[in-house]
Amino acid sequence: MTFASFALDQRIQTGVERAGYTVPTPIQTQAIPPLLAGRDILGLAQTGTGKTAAFVLPILQKLLTLNTPKHGPVKVLVLAPTRELALQIHENFETLGQDTGISSVAVFGGVSQHPQVKKLRQSTVVVACPGRLLDLMNQGLAKLDHVDTLVLDEADRMLDMGFAPDIRRIVSRLRGSRQTMLFSATMPKEIRTLTREYLHNAVEVQAGTSEPVAAISHALYPVPAHLKTELLEALLRTTAHETMLIFTRTKHRAKSLARKLETKGWAATFLQGNMSQNRRQEAMAGFRNGKYTIMVATDIASRGIDCERISHVVNFDMPDTVESYTHRIGRTGRACRSGQALSLVTREDDDQIRAVERSIGRGIDRKQLPEFDYTLPGRTDTDARPRRFAPRRTFGQNRYT
Ligand code: AMP
Repeated sequence: MTFASFALDQRIQTGVERAGYTVPTPIQTQAIPPLLAGRDILGLAQTGTGKTAAFVLPILQKLLTLNTPKHGPVKVLVLAPTRELALQIHENFETLGQDTGISSVAVFGGVSQHPQVKKLRQSTVVVACPGRLLDLMNQGLAKLDHVDTLVLDEADRMLDMGFAPDIRRIVSRLRGSRQTMLFSATMPKEIRTLTREYLHNAVEVQAGTSEPVAAISHALYPVPAHLKTELLEALLRTTAHETMLIFTRTKHRAKSLARKLETKGWAATFLQGNMSQNRRQEAMAGFRNGKYTIMVATDIASRGIDCERISHVVNFDMPDTVESYTHRIGRTGRACRSGQALSLVTREDDDQIRAVERSIGRGIDRKQLPEFDYTLPGRTDTDARPRRFAPRRTFGQNRYT
């Protein structure tokens, strides 16, 4: 299938070409035709499958077909869990829709509301995090009476983050006759409930499964906890990587590891929950434009990181759940490229490893770096010390952000 077979308006087709897309991804092939026909959709797809364009393209087409005014009132509302994801979706509207002239705004907390409110008055598409949007609605600053297209993106993540009441309040103020699209990487009971409430006669589409994609190769590097940083540096020296996304368990570790790598001369930055919006944006933009080749992040901060060239994902600390493992390594091998997932593991991680191996249906190779001295003595570095006082991590809980 080609993009031409969707018969999109030429202005949108130009956007597709500008983005460099030649062949639609499976989720796009499945979702675009029913969306163009006006159907509701339930998309089981994770980030990295091309799901954003799968809804952005038909929405742009609908707006052009209906001759919708380009600078408001708001006709399309997209709800997303994090600022990064909201910005990325907004950027997708801007890039793919550049020639359509349709204006879009990203609305999220942590920054002054004034510029967002100003832009919101002249936008037809709003991509928002639920908290800030509800806040603006309550102040009478966001009028959504004309919205006839609603997208709930990464719905499972929004529920995980406690946004369910905000979403319900927002949706209750929209008009009932609308086209609704819900995308989620997983389908827990709560999402099924939302689906029954919000979707009508929806087409279900699925791309990938919650198992990691096949294009990714996995490797485990057993290492004593106190030598993780040294082993990581040895891996960096011996592995040809374009960009590397490294996950740590805590915010503190993300920051201190990035700083350590930086002092050793690596172009490293970090992303974690309690950074200012400016610093997050600087880190994200720098990672995207190649200023940094290494990003150290925590799980929550990494949601929706979209960098097309991530060649390696490193679990500096193994995640607590298989789902997080899948989400993390979903950052590489994106849109059918191949990637590598490397995990530095200690004896504490045995349960997690077994669960991941069960989920991908095969064992993962244990590797050793031949030139690395695994017998080096421990250091007095707090980060490297084993977590003697921490309770044993339980599987199924994701307590560290
Ligand atoms: P998403 O799942 O929407 O986060 O998209 C993942 C990545 O795939 C993004 O970098 C998109 O720009 C890219 N992408 C989306 N659709 C295509 C396509 N048809 N061909 C190549 N890359 C794509």
